[in-house]
Amino acid sequence: MADPAPKPGNAAPGAKAASGAYTPAGVSPNRRARHKYTVRLWAVRHSRFLEWFYRRFADVFLLLHPLWKKIGYERVERPITFVERNVKGFLFDCRMCGQCALSSTGMSCPMNCPKQLRNGPCGGVRANGNCEVEPDMPCVWVQAWNGSRNMAYGDAILNVQKPVNQSLRETSSWLRVTAEAAAAREAASKES
Ligand code: SF4
Repeated sequence: MADPAPKPGNAAPGAKAASGAYTPAGVSPNRRARHKYTVRLWAVRHSRFLEWFYRRFADVFLLLHPLWKKIGYERVERPITFVERNVKGFLFDCRMCGQCALSSTGMSCPMNCPKQLRNGPCGGVRANGNCEVEPDMPCVWVQAWNGSRNMAYGDAILNVQKPVNQSLRETSSWLRVTAEAAAAREAASKES
């Protein structure tokens, strides 16, 4: 026999509210683990250090371009994606869009916006700076602006981001940025 439908108000804590259903105060339809918010907010507070670190890290990755090329970018894609997913998943709750915008968004991942907006907040930010869809989550874009104000190149937040290319999902941003930088460097050296 099928389980009886839960009565209103008897849903398990944190259960996803049915679409359009009344949502009790303090319950978010997409509640995520509290520690993830904590780490995300830490990353925003330390955006200047993370920006500095990422620039050094990108330089090292570019230095290793001959190695990636020798092994084959396709062959290193899988292990590097694994590392990237875990490191950025822990620090930023990364969704592996494959086109990382963290350097332009104050180290606040825009893919954590429930509407996945890449160019600023919607009109629904609450007076306390929280999201209108997830009332207990600070708005990703309010955090992005705060983080960008600490960064040396924080005004990059004013640049318009392209729409997400869905074909790049689950691929490594690190490798793609490296391959593009190496190609640009080679093209520049041919011209000169
Ligand atoms: S912008 Fe994309 S790659 Fe960067 S942290 Fe967010 S989901 Fe991950």
